[in-house]
Amino acid sequence: MAYITGLRRNKTEYTPEFIKTIDAETCIGCARCFKVCAHDVLTFEEVDEDDSAKMYMKVSNPDNCIGCQACGRTCSKKCFAFEPVVL
Ligand code: SF4
Ligand code: SF4
Repeated sequence: MAYITGLRRNKTEYTPEFIKTIDAETCIGCARCFKVCAHDVLTFEEVDEDDSAKMYMKVSNPDNCIGCQACGRTCSKKCFAFEPVVL
């Protein structure tokens, strides 16, 4: 199976891993991922829980993702799942 590949500056190839899901159950809404993503992929979502409201991160524009995985590296709760994209 062939996947979309990228090129480093030294012209060697790599396989980007694009955002697949964020686990809303484990997300604590810290926004670290939101701050590192420069491609408008993520947005906050608010859900009502009993007497309080919980914020969590949502994948809103998956097609903007460049597959850098910076969001996943910054997440201490390991909420992210990534996948390569088949050509
Ligand atoms: S993999 Fe990169 S571009 Fe995609 S959502 Fe995460 S930080 Fe943004
Ligand atoms: S870094 Fe992880 S825990 Fe924090 S908002 Fe993003 S997905 Fe949620």
